[in-house]
Amino acid sequence: MKQPDYYAILEVQREATAEEIKKAYRKTALKYHPDRNPNNPQAEEKFKLAAAAYEVLSDEKKRAIYDQYGHEGIKNKGFQSQGFDMDDIFSHFGDIFGEQSPFSSFFGSGGHTSTQTRTTKGTNLRISLQLTLQEIAQGITKHIKINRYVGCMSCDHTGAKDRTSLKKCSTCNGQGQVAQISQTMLGKMRVVNTCPTCRGEGQSIDIPCVACKGDGRIKKEDIVTIKIPAGVTEGMQLSMRGYGNVAVRGKSAGDLIVHIQEKEDPLFQRQKNNILYHLHISFLDAVLGQTLEVPTIDGKVKIKISPGTQSGKILRLRNKGIKDVNSYHTGDQLIFVNIYTPTHLTKQEKETLEQLRKDSDHFFPTSSKKSKSIFDKFKECFNIV
Ligand SMILES: [Zn+2]
Ligand SMILES: [Zn+2]
Repeated sequence: MKQPDYYAILEVQREATAEEIKKAYRKTALKYHPDRNPNNPQAEEKFKLAAAAYEVLSDEKKRAIYDQYGHEGIKNKGFQSQGFDMDDIFSHFGDIFGEQSPFSSFFGSGGHTSTQTRTTKGTNLRISLQLTLQEIAQGITKHIKINRYVGCMSCDHTGAKDRTSLKKCSTCNGQGQVAQISQTMLGKMRVVNTCPTCRGEGQSIDIPCVACKGDGRIKKEDIVTIKIPAGVTEGMQLSMRGYGNVAVRGKSAGDLIVHIQEKEDPLFQRQKNNILYHLHISFLDAVLGQTLEVPTIDGKVKIKISPGTQSGKILRLRNKGIKDVNSYHTGDQLIFVNIYTPTHLTKQEKETLEQLRKDSDHFFPTSSKKSKSIFDKFKECFNIV
């Protein structure tokens, strides 16, 4: 999966200074901020991308790795962002915009997180998981480090030091909403807004909890065990309920969405549940026949090359492919036979072969029939009509 270039996202030169990057991020974040682009998933995506780009480019160490190795380097060094959620991005805004944040609320009043969802369920976390073909074929249990918000135990998610420091909000009288009369083009209108003091919760905290500073949740590094079944495919998403973030002063957590990515395999290619393998055999083995060892996803097996094997022949090892994730069916391994032509010969070998060429007319192909049958086999393997 191709990821866009971080410099391009922030529209800065590769040699931009830290200050220029910060400025560019500020500009991009403002442009795509959800408060300015309500119900616009494209803007939200760009907003998140900008945050991901800034996370890397604002950190000298990560930036150096990114410059040298690109996205792969960031992933391999374990710097891959463990999912960006909106609360995370907003909580960094203090550093970016200072005290004069242009947005009234850190924790989104702008349509992307409603009061309702904030007090009931937290945001989802998204991570990408790169798997080798081996891991996909066998299924695997992964233990992944995740930074997520969990409920604060000291205050039992309330954010208050104790029960007595939790008061009814005086601005909205516990309603969570305030009505305002505003002048619009159509005349005076009564607009009901979320209470700015208590952010719609109807309660205010006199003395906040020391552990969570009133948020009712704390950021914690968690190890999550993810069981990946055999046969998953690129782009598949596994959802782990309750392993996302707990909302501010909320009780239940969002989900952890695991996005599956396939690592390229040096030996095999995957075609649905079949595994493709290119075997190179010598001209002599092709002519005389031979028993050879070939690798499969679960160890080596011996195969017989019959005398007179043509280049392009496809051998099928039944059930040596990948198990279907949704059924009991298992794919095959398809072996594409290629005949290797030697390029370096000794003088004597060359003479022997020259002699053979002189003597053996039947070494040359006599018709095009053979190549047609190989093509038919290929079509059959890939179900091409
Ligand atoms: Zn607390
Ligand atoms: Zn209030």
